[in-house]
Amino acid sequence: MIEQQIKSAIRDIPDFPKPGIIFKDITPILKDPGLCGDIVDAFVREVKGIRIDAVAGVESRGFLFGLNLAQKLGVPFVPVRKAGKLPHTVKQKVYELEYGTATIELHTDAFKAGDHILIHDDLLATGGTVAATSELIQEMGGKVAGFTFVVGLGFLNGHERIEPINNKVIVLAK
Ligand code: IMP
Repeated sequence: MIEQQIKSAIRDIPDFPKPGIIFKDITPILKDPGLCGDIVDAFVREVKGIRIDAVAGVESRGFLFGLNLAQKLGVPFVPVRKAGKLPHTVKQKVYELEYGTATIELHTDAFKAGDHILIHDDLLATGGTVAATSELIQEMGGKVAGFTFVVGLGFLNGHERIEPINNKVIVLAK
């Protein structure tokens, strides 16, 4: 099944990007076109019946499956980027990290007020990034349709953080 296939494909990289962190490297998945297609198909199955007007993918690995998912759903893809990367007018959100802050941006014309936006990223850790993305989308008049992730790090409890925003949280490999 897909969960096992994803778990077998990803690899642990110790001490990346800092000592003490075990980084889940998803790039081996990208070398398997069949698995990539199955991942997108699994997301499409899981979100069936939910209103989705656009998929927002979080820089940068959220672009990998986010665009394909949007195309399969027949809806626009909107990139959520780090500060200073989007060329048109933007709205931004500053959020707290363990040490310091980070800033994400969306184009002001990314979607219309009232649109239902599915948030996608490759991996759910603490949930801080997608929680900030949700706040930005809501401040721009959008509604959060749900969340999709290829991988979840369960021990960081990201699920608990984002379920109150929308309890449609799809994680293919937990
Ligand atoms: P969070 O905001 O703590 O949930 O962190 C999630 C963000 O950090 C996502 O954009 C991920 O791409 C990235 N991230 C954190 N840890 C890993 C990892 O082990 N592998 C790949 N991406 C990670």
